[in-house]
Amino acid sequence: MFLILLYFILYCKQKLYLVNIEVLLLNGKMKIPLKKPVLVTSALPYVNGECHIGHLRTYVPADIYVRVLRKMGYDVVFISGSDTHGTPIVLSAEAQGITPQAVVEKYHQHFKRMFQALNVNFDYYGRTDSESNHRRTEEIVKKLIDNGYVYKKETKQAFCNTCGRFLPDRYVEGKCPYCGAIARGDECDQGCGKHLEPGEIIEPRCKICGSEADFKEQEQFYFKLSAFADFLISYLDHLGGTLNARNYAKEWTRKELRDWCVTRNLEWGVKFPGRGDLVVYVWVDAPIGYISFTEDLIKEKGEDEKEWRKYWKENKATIVHFIGTDIIYHHCIFWPAMLKGAGYSLPDAVVASGMVKIDGKTFSKSRGNVVWATEFLERFHPDTLRYYLVAQSSHTKELDFSWDSFYTRVNHELVAILGNLVHRVVSFTYKNFGAVPEGDIEEEVFAQIELTREEVISAMEEYEFKKLVDAVMKLAYFGNSFFQREEPWHLIKEGEKGRERCGGIVKNVLQIIKAVCILMEAVMPDKMAEVWSQLGMESDVHSVMLDELMMPIKSGQTLKKPKKLFERVEV
Ligand SMILES: [Zn+2]
Ligand SMILES: [Zn+2]
Repeated sequence: MFLILLYFILYCKQKLYLVNIEVLLLNGKMKIPLKKPVLVTSALPYVNGECHIGHLRTYVPADIYVRVLRKMGYDVVFISGSDTHGTPIVLSAEAQGITPQAVVEKYHQHFKRMFQALNVNFDYYGRTDSESNHRRTEEIVKKLIDNGYVYKKETKQAFCNTCGRFLPDRYVEGKCPYCGAIARGDECDQGCGKHLEPGEIIEPRCKICGSEADFKEQEQFYFKLSAFADFLISYLDHLGGTLNARNYAKEWTRKELRDWCVTRNLEWGVKFPGRGDLVVYVWVDAPIGYISFTEDLIKEKGEDEKEWRKYWKENKATIVHFIGTDIIYHHCIFWPAMLKGAGYSLPDAVVASGMVKIDGKTFSKSRGNVVWATEFLERFHPDTLRYYLVAQSSHTKELDFSWDSFYTRVNHELVAILGNLVHRVVSFTYKNFGAVPEGDIEEEVFAQIELTREEVISAMEEYEFKKLVDAVMKLAYFGNSFFQREEPWHLIKEGEKGRERCGGIVKNVLQIIKAVCILMEAVMPDKMAEVWSQLGMESDVHSVMLDELMMPIKSGQTLKKPKKLFERVEV
C-alpha cells in the first residue's frame, strides 16, 4: 500500500514537472541573442483598398518593437511591402475596367503615404510584383520541384460554362464544406475561417455572372505539405512569438495536414515554371517578398549582394514576423514548410495581433463598419492613434475601437498625466530658472527609472506593447506626484536656500521627463521629439540609447519656450 502511494506521489511529481516545463515553453518569451542582427517584417498589406485601423494594429506595434530594439542596441532591419497578386485585385481591376497594375500602383502609393504619415519607418517597402520577387519565387518553386515537394495532379476546378472559364479563388462563391457558411473559393471568411482548396467549395457560383458553376478536371500543381508534419510539430515547439500563433498552428498540425494546390489559372501573378497558362498561388509569392525585399534593401544600401544570405540562408539572423491572427496558418505552417523544403532559414518568432472591432461589431468594409486611416489623420495627431492602438488592449486580444474610448485615452492619459507633467514642470522651470538647475538626482528617482526600463524590456520580450505604455505612464504619474509632494512653488519664495532646494527638485522631475521621453519615443516619436527639444537636449531622441536613461540631465542647458503637448479632444 505504502509503495503504491509512493509511486503515486512520484508519478504526480513527474506530471507536475512536465506541466512546469510546458508552462516554461509556453510563456511566449523569446530572448533574442544580442550578437545576431534581427530582421523584423510586418505582414504585407493587400493593395486593393485603403488603409484602415485594422491594418495599423499590426504595423504600429511592429514599428514600436523595432524602435525599442534599436534603443537596446540591436542591429535591426525592418521590412514590408505591398501584396499585389491574387484574384481580388484582378476582380477589382475588371470591375473598374482598368489593369491590375493600375489598381496596385494606386494603393501601393497610398499605403506608402499612410506609413510615412504614421511614422511607421520601414527600411524597405517593396512590392511583390517586382522583378526580384518574380525571380526569387521562381527559384524557390524550382527548388521545391527538384526536391520532390511539388507535384502534378488532375483536380476538379470550378468552371463557369456561361463565361467559359475556370474560376480560381475569389471568382467563385458557395458554401463551406466544413461549416456550411457562405464562403469564398479559397477561404471560409464568414464562418469557420478555414482555408479552402480549389474544388472544395459546395454549390459553387460564378462571381462574375452569377450562374451556377460546374467542376471540370484540370491539371494543377500541389505542395506536399503532408510531408512536413513531423518537422512542423518540432518547429512549432520552439517557435517564439505570441502564444495565440503557436497554439493555433499546433492545433492544425495535430489534425491532418493536406497538400496545397499552389497554381491558379490566371494571367496576373508569377508564372509557374514551364507553364505559361498557370501562375503560382498568391500565398506562395507573397511571403517570398520578405526575402526579395531583403535582397532589394541590401542592393539599395550598396552592400555585397550576397549579404541577404546571412538573413535567409545561413541562419545568422533572428527573423520575427508581425502578422494579424487571420494569417497564422499561412505564416506558421505553410511558410516554414516551404522554407524548409527549399533550404532557407526559418522564422524565429511569429507575433500575431488580435483583430479589431468597431463599437463591438465585426470590422467590415462592405458594411461600412470601418475607420479609415485618412479619416483619422485629418482630425488627430498620428501619435495619439499610435498610443491608442497599443494602450487600448493587450496585443493578442481583440481591440474594440470606439470614439469614446479614444477620447478617454487622450483626455485622461495623454492630456491629464503625460501632457500635464511636461507642461507644468517645463513651464515652472522655464519661468523660474530658464535652464536646468543645479542638483543631484535622488536614488528614489533613479530606482523608478530603472524599474520602468526593466518593465519596458520585458514588455518587448513578451511582445506586450500595452505593458510598455502602462509602465511609462506610471513613471509619468510618479513624476507628477513627486512634484506635487515636494511643493517647489513654495520653496522658490523662501530665499536663496529655498531656491536651491527648489532647483534640485525640479532637476529630478526633469530627469523623469527625460526618461519618459526616451522610453515613449517608440510609441509617440513626434511628440517625444517636441518634449526633447523643450528640455533643450542637443541629441536626437530617435537615436539615443536606453543607457542615456541613467545619465543625469545637464545642469545649465537652456530650456525652450514650453508649448502644450496635447489638446483635449471633444466628443
Ligand atoms: Zn467554414
Ligand atoms: Zn460566369
